[in-house]
Amino acid sequence: MKRYPIFLNPVFKERIWGGTALRDKFHYEDIPSDLTGECWGISAHPHGQSVVKNGQYAGVALGDLWENHRELFGRQEGEAFPLLTKILDANTDLSVQVHPDNEYAKRYETDALGKTECWYIIDCKEGAKLIYGHTAATREEFKERIERGEWDQLLREVAIKPGDFFYVPSGTIHALGAGTLVLETQQSSDTTYRVFDYDRVDDQGNKRELHLQKAMDVTTIPHEAGHCEPKVTNIQEMTMTTFVENEFFSVQKWDVSGVSQLEQTKDFMLVSVIKGTGVISKNNESYPFTIGDHFILPCEFGEFSIDGDAELIVAYK
Ligand code: ZN
Repeated sequence: MKRYPIFLNPVFKERIWGGTALRDKFHYEDIPSDLTGECWGISAHPHGQSVVKNGQYAGVALGDLWENHRELFGRQEGEAFPLLTKILDANTDLSVQVHPDNEYAKRYETDALGKTECWYIIDCKEGAKLIYGHTAATREEFKERIERGEWDQLLREVAIKPGDFFYVPSGTIHALGAGTLVLETQQSSDTTYRVFDYDRVDDQGNKRELHLQKAMDVTTIPHEAGHCEPKVTNIQEMTMTTFVENEFFSVQKWDVSGVSQLEQTKDFMLVSVIKGTGVISKNNESYPFTIGDHFILPCEFGEFSIDGDAELIVAYK
């Protein structure tokens, strides 16, 4: 059976913290409003599924492809497609939050998976920050500081710059800060426990719900930084940086600056183009790509060449 790069149409989500960067920087002309926060580029999650754009599977939702054509994914097991790739436009601060692990999600939530995630900072404004972890030594201290509203003392702020990478295991307190554009690779889950929302109210004067008890159940205390040490390899006209490789996912950045010969040896690869343009060629057929494209290189795609001037984030499991 023919294997080809399966391009997907993304799904957009409006968020109170969103903006217009997905249109201004990624040329998605069809974002729903000037408060668009998320592009779900590669998703089989029931809350928003990507649909195939090209070839024999055109029009098929990714969840159906996973269900009925498991051969494209190396016959990996599991009810749910394991990964979800998003681009996030944090125009203002996101709420401070934490996600459960697989076991907790399975027991208490409808999501089949917990949520370990990671961020590649595509762009951010000068002086941008994010929240990563907390300072409490014990569960009692964590609870007390929350009850007293001592957020400045409790939350760990980290200065960021474009090109930074953060591994955010389930149980890590986190929040993206204003003026940040991020590519997020995560387990396919939509379960979030909100800890603090800066006392913001919507246009009806309502605050968003917090989930303090569940957050206290799942937060890792004391905080443990998700370890990752990028590994850089040069392959012909490409630089490949591997940020993380573990049981949940592996994430790489491919900096393409000319022609390279590669081989797809994984069960499948999820590819998101975050800069530039290029082309993948195989058996006299070529598949051009440009910033904002998301596609899957399926199992047994095999040898191919890649050319162009582009930056890609590649994930696999
Ligand atoms: Zn999160």
